[in-house]
Formats: sequence, C-alpha cells, structure tokens
Amino acid sequence: MTDLLNVSGLSVFYGAKAQAVENVSFAVPSGKVVALLGANGAGKTSIMKAIAGLIPARGAISFDGVDLAGTPARERVKRGIVYVPEGREIVREMTVRENLVLGGYHLGGRERKDRTAMVLDLFPEIANKADGAAWRLSGGEQQMLAIGRGLMAGPRLLLLDEPSLGLAPMLVRRVFDRLRAIRQETDLGIVLVEQNLVMSMRLCDDLYFLRGGMLVGHRSAEELKDSAARQEAIDVYLGAA
Ligand code: ATP
Repeated sequence: MTDLLNVSGLSVFYGAKAQAVENVSFAVPSGKVVALLGANGAGKTSIMKAIAGLIPARGAISFDGVDLAGTPARERVKRGIVYVPEGREIVREMTVRENLVLGGYHLGGRERKDRTAMVLDLFPEIANKADGAAWRLSGGEQQMLAIGRGLMAGPRLLLLDEPSLGLAPMLVRRVFDRLRAIRQETDLGIVLVEQNLVMSMRLCDDLYFLRGGMLVGHRSAEELKDSAARQEAIDVYLGAA
C-alpha cells in the first residue's frame, strides 16, 4: 500500500551554510501517527514546514504517492496537508467560532457549519465559549482551538508542532486524549513534533529521534512499552548531545 506521506533524503538549509536538516527519511502510513522527537534546534519544525511547503527543501516528499516538488503551500492544504504551528497562532481578537471559520475558509457555507459543529463537539471546553473572544481561553483551550482550526480544513495529514508547549501535564493529557479520539474516528495521519517521549507514546505508532538535524533512531511505540527500552531511548537519543 502507498504511504500517505513519504519523506526521502530531506535536507533544509537556511542560507548557504546553515544546514538545519540533513538527509532525513521517514514515512507515515495511512491512518498512522508518527512522532518526531528531539531537543530544541534538532530540526523538527523545519521538517514540518518543508512538508507544508512553507520553506524550500532538497530531497523528495510525496503525498499519496504523488511527488510534491513545486506544489505551493496553498495547494498542499487543498490536498489535505494541514500544519498547526507551535505557539498556537490564533487570532486573539476574534471569537472562537470566527477562528474556526478561518480554518475552513475554502469550504461552502453548509460544510463549514457542519465542520464547526463537529469540532465544537470534539472540544466541549471551547464549545461553551464559542462566541467569546479567543484571548479569553486558557492555554490548553487555545491549543484545542488551534487544533480545531486545523481540523476545519478537512485534513488527511495533520502536522502538529509541539501541541504540549507551555501546557500543564494534565492539560497535555487532555489534548492528547482528544487527538486519540480523533484518530480512532477517522483515518487521519498525523506527524507530531514533541520533546516528551512518554506523552508521545500515548498517541503514536512510530517514533523517530532527531539530533542536530539528523535522524538518529527509530522505535515503534510497541517496542517502547518495555520500560528498559524506553529508558535506553531517552538516554541514547534524547540525552545531552
Ligand atoms: P524548536 O523546538 O526549538 O523549534 P526544532 O527541533 O523544531 O526546535 P528547528 O526550529 O527546525 O528545530 O531548527 C533547526 C535549526 O535551524 C536550528 O539550529 C535553528 O537555529 C535553525 N533555524 C531555524 N529557523 C531558522 C531561520 N529562519 N533562519 C536561520 N536558521 C534557522
């Protein structure tokens, strides 16, 4: 079966000399969740932006077996590749509902309404604040809104950049539980960027470890259920460089 996403030999440069990502390859089978783990500066965000078409990259990225070279970011969104950036870039002055509508700007009125209802159903925390200003939401609720806005676009592949950033562990668990529910209900593929291995395991099938822009390891969530294997991965891949 063709992978939903296939990344092969990906390299990202900022300027002539600064290489942020070097020869990274991985795949997301349809309906699977893959985590990219690594410290700050490991290259995780650069990989996501390259897949979304927001920055230039070398190597090959294919979606549904089709090479994305030369495909602009806007067209990638239309095909179902949706990037939810880190830092919850919501429009603070607009209402929660208006923020959601932004994510489904390309949809017809009926579909937009249905999707808004679906997202609010999924995140009851923000549903009863739907007509209030987005800045009133707590950090966790803002993260739910950012993910909800991503879902409005009808993604087939969701690129989630550190959804746990700045959230208390309890809220992270809640956000991840909701993501688990989404993946159970749909055949959505997800690439999750994270620093937290244990939290990522709640959601992911495959975990890739990055350091200094390079892929240094790969484990399945199944393998990491063994606590000794988990500790080893933390020490070897996520320990001090
Ligand atoms: P973080 O969690 O801090 O976002 P990351 O693993 O996502 O880290 P990237 O943001 O992809 O890592 O950064 C990888 C490398 O590329 C870092 O050394 C970073 O300083 C560099 N970098 C990122 N963006 C730029 C840019 N716009 N210009 C120059 N260098 C950049």
